[in-house]
Amino acid sequence: AQTKLLLAERFAAIGEAAAHLSHEIKNPLMLMGGFARQVQRTLPEDDARTQKLEIIAGEAKRLENLLLEVREFTRPPQPRKVETDITELITEVIRLFQEQAASQDIECRLDMAPGIPRCMLDVDQIKQVLINLIKNAMEAMACGGKLGIAASADERFVQIAIDDTGGGIPTEIMKKLFHPFFSTKPKGTGLGLAVSYKLVQDHGGDITVQSTEGRGTRFTVTLPT
Ligand code: ADP
Ligand code: MG
Repeated sequence: AQTKLLLAERFAAIGEAAAHLSHEIKNPLMLMGGFARQVQRTLPEDDARTQKLEIIAGEAKRLENLLLEVREFTRPPQPRKVETDITELITEVIRLFQEQAASQDIECRLDMAPGIPRCMLDVDQIKQVLINLIKNAMEAMACGGKLGIAASADERFVQIAIDDTGGGIPTEIMKKLFHPFFSTKPKGTGLGLAVSYKLVQDHGGDITVQSTEGRGTRFTVTLPT
């Protein structure tokens, strides 16, 4: 289960990295091609440099198109929403972490309100979100602690709260948490929260965070029912 989790996060990370890179490359590339064309227009047709500028502009255009394709490819697929029992989904995800929790001296507590309505959601995507959040919670409790997962609902929204008793998050980094590549971990990708945020937004939901340094952290995922 552990390897599968890692693979899923790595895969998401590669996609995000490609998307990020192509975005970074696109603007300078468009500038280069654009300026080559501008200079080209100031030269007489038979100037030997015209052909070279033509090649620069043409190749820049070709790369731009390639980038468009890469972005299309790395864009997360549109959510494939199916009617889902949230309680079942959460139970499945927690099962993935049971061994790790035991070996890390983490006590898990599940608190599901009765009668949570079924939600239309992409099971794989929301699973990935919960995996990312629980993984962070466990990483924040390297020396043991309590992991709480609670779900509740009203007519319009389902809320899933993931609580840990880890070190908490310093106020000065709160704003950066969801930025791609922001990580305070030596081997962190900094993509878990960025990807999760995007996936939940794509579902018309939201993720919020409350944290007290030295006490712990709570991430709350809200999804429309
Ligand atoms: P990564 O886990 O690879 O560092 P994430 O996007 O998952 O990237 O998290 C970004 C950062 O947010 C983490 O490096 C950490 O500093 C902070 N963070 C996220 N969740 C928690 C948590 N439950 N407790 C403390 N810090 C957290
Ligand atoms: Mg993470």
